[in-house]
Amino acid sequence: MKSLLPAAGDLASYGRGCPLCHGSTNRISRRVIDVLLSLFIPVRRYRCRSLTCTWEGNLRDR
Ligand SMILES: [Zn+2]
Repeated sequence: MKSLLPAAGDLASYGRGCPLCHGSTNRISRRVIDVLLSLFIPVRRYRCRSLTCTWEGNLRDR
């Protein structure tokens, strides 16, 4: 069953927590594979702003 509810909190396009260090992240441009994936799962690509963490990956868009 599909949910047609709008994503609450979508206005916060910045500030998703890093899953490793829980620091702030930057949204970065997606690779082609991420765009394809986003057709099925709404994800956005983020990179941790911490110089010591350097985590980068996809987070659910919500
Ligand atoms: Zn981090």
